[in-house]
Amino acid sequence: MSGTAEGLAQAYATRWLWKAAVPIALPVLAGLTVLLVPLAVLAAPEAVSSACSTGGTGATVAGIELDAVQMGQAQTIVNVAAARGLGPYAAVVALATAYQESRIRMLANDGSSSELTAEQAAVTATSLQYAHDGLGSDHDSVNTFQQRWIAGWGTPVQLMDPVYAAEAFYDRLVEVPNWQTIPLTRAAQVVQVSAYGSAYARWEPLARELTTMLWPAAQSTAANPGGAVSGVCPGLAVPAGSWVRPSTGTVTSGYGPRWGTLHAGVDIAGPRNTPVYAASGGTVTTAACTSAYCDRDGSLNLAGYGNLVELDHGAGVVTRYAHLSGYTVMPGQQVPAGALIGFQGSTGNSTGVHLHFEVRVDGAPIDPVPWLADRGIDLHAPNPA
Ligand SMILES: [Zn+2]
Repeated sequence: MSGTAEGLAQAYATRWLWKAAVPIALPVLAGLTVLLVPLAVLAAPEAVSSACSTGGTGATVAGIELDAVQMGQAQTIVNVAAARGLGPYAAVVALATAYQESRIRMLANDGSSSELTAEQAAVTATSLQYAHDGLGSDHDSVNTFQQRWIAGWGTPVQLMDPVYAAEAFYDRLVEVPNWQTIPLTRAAQVVQVSAYGSAYARWEPLARELTTMLWPAAQSTAANPGGAVSGVCPGLAVPAGSWVRPSTGTVTSGYGPRWGTLHAGVDIAGPRNTPVYAASGGTVTTAACTSAYCDRDGSLNLAGYGNLVELDHGAGVVTRYAHLSGYTVMPGQQVPAGALIGFQGSTGNSTGVHLHFEVRVDGAPIDPVPWLADRGIDLHAPNPA
């Protein structure tokens, strides 16, 4: 395991692909006409195994009411502990910490703290571009654990990934001597470098009860990596109709005529295996290899989108995510905006690692840049690739 959230989910995605996706690869038309892939054929219904738990239901735990978003975040935190082979006590410490820091909500930060320089404020405010379920303004702190990019916890884009956030917490927890046996307060205090460690202990009954509730699902997820793709779920419930940036990276090619054909989307290039997120909530209609092969990079001589995820957002709006190195969703699955759906790769008709992102309205491609701009997302804005 790479030790990062992406690495963990990527390993699952790759295994899942090997098991299930390769046999349904379809021959496609030669040349650059990747737009003609018969998606209706690819979208044949398939059994959906475990659903992402993020869209779960609320519960009253140890006398505290938690809504579906908080329960989903809690499940992710518990899943990561189980997937790493840490005992349930690790999840107890993490949940008590997350409740104290954020009430177990993924908090973005607008950078309004007077402690920040203008430059630090601008970087901190990039957290707003990623799916979140609340706003905080404490220094440069973001996410469920209120981790700080200035303090070396990761880049804002990494920290806004709930799985990365949990991984980062556990990375530091396991470095605390005797973390399994010392009081929760001390362990959490060391990890968080907090002067107010005693506050964490207050939430220990909540954290213990939550762990008892969520651990069985986390364990079955960890025991069956093939099904864990959707179980380790960094997705966030954000308000219905919200849109988020689908991936970090630089826009390298826009929508419009290219090489004698229509480039029906926008290319966003980041490092290999950069996470790709659902731009908005919807139903997965395609998650498949659409080229002759997807187990390695493609080329201009290979037709098709490579590994493709297509989401149906209703009202005739569809988005496509192409050339993925792997994907983490299955057809039929419902995903919220900001859900991890795959990773940037170079499968199919592609010569370099990037995300080819399309927006289609009633079947016809439109330019994603103004579409997203109208929804508050500037693809050309600097972002932490
Ligand atoms: Zn493209």
